[in-house]
Amino acid sequence: MLLDNHGRKINYLRLAVTDRCNLRCFYCMPAEGLDWLSRTELMTYEEILHICTLMVKMGIEKVRITGGEPFVRKDIMQLLKALSKLDGLKELTLTTNGILTAPYVGELKRIGVRSVNLSLDTLDANRFFAITRRDEFAAVTETMEQLLKHDIDVKINTVVMAGKNTQDIIPLVELTRQLPVSVRFIEEMPFNGEGHSYSGIVWDYVKILEAIKQAFPGIQKTPDPLYSTAYNYHVPGHQGSVGIIAAYSRTFCGTCNRIRITPQGILKNCLYDDGVLNIKDLMRLGVKDAELEETLRLTFNTREKDGWQAEQKRLENPNFHESMATIGG
Ligand code: SAM
Repeated sequence: MLLDNHGRKINYLRLAVTDRCNLRCFYCMPAEGLDWLSRTELMTYEEILHICTLMVKMGIEKVRITGGEPFVRKDIMQLLKALSKLDGLKELTLTTNGILTAPYVGELKRIGVRSVNLSLDTLDANRFFAITRRDEFAAVTETMEQLLKHDIDVKINTVVMAGKNTQDIIPLVELTRQLPVSVRFIEEMPFNGEGHSYSGIVWDYVKILEAIKQAFPGIQKTPDPLYSTAYNYHVPGHQGSVGIIAAYSRTFCGTCNRIRITPQGILKNCLYDDGVLNIKDLMRLGVKDAELEETLRLTFNTREKDGWQAEQKRLENPNFHESMATIGG
């Protein structure tokens, strides 16, 4: 079992396979995109498999593939298939914007993917365009239908943004009446690729819950699973469920079980830190697994107590311009 210096179990790796994305969500990256990583800067699939194999041996039980958009990286299914065969890995899952995903859903099911996080900030095609700067709403709903048809759990991730999509909160809760999906409202985080930190947000988890309670006074709190980052709820009679993730307020750091690897192979102990170890460089230098494992253990022993401390350190870096797409969001 892997433990950090605060006694927290680490068993969940989120790994970003690319920084590239086919959307341009305004809260994630500028309209012109990012200064994309070159192919040689990205971890190869062999390197990704290598580090995942080692980490699973060390105690990682769940791997989430994310990005950027995982499906814009060539042959992503090959990687997913190889990962699905890793001995000791209990859960392989992914986060996607759903634009290119629909044709792969059958294959995802076959390799054992049981749950997919689908990002969708609105149920209105015009607002979708305003937020993502791309006219792709229909492709996302097609992916949602395919996932449900294949009996894969769907978690819809919705970032709540003042003045942009708060009118979607109630329709999205309403969606859980008709469909067995879990809609999770996420506080906006300061990772828009332009480098300004936020001094706060208007729509925090308390305000989101108040808005939902006004429209659905019967909504009930349900138990939060171990390591859940969401506060979970259910509206009686609805097929699906509702979650609220205090990603900016950072209320869940005390039980944080997750680490991240960025597309260029940098380990992050916390979403809010600045990267703590360049794993890709170590692998390319030919460092042997035993030494890599030792270095990883030492690094897990330097984890900050919470996302506030991690952010404080990161902000000391004056060149900080991070987008969620480069982090492994
Ligand atoms: N492309 C995939 C997708 O859209 O699901 C995976 C990567 S995307 C960066 C992962 C998640 O991060 C998405 O749900 C997105 O909405 C969220 N995200 C990006 N920037 C964010 C921000 N500034 N605050 C909160 N969530 C953000």
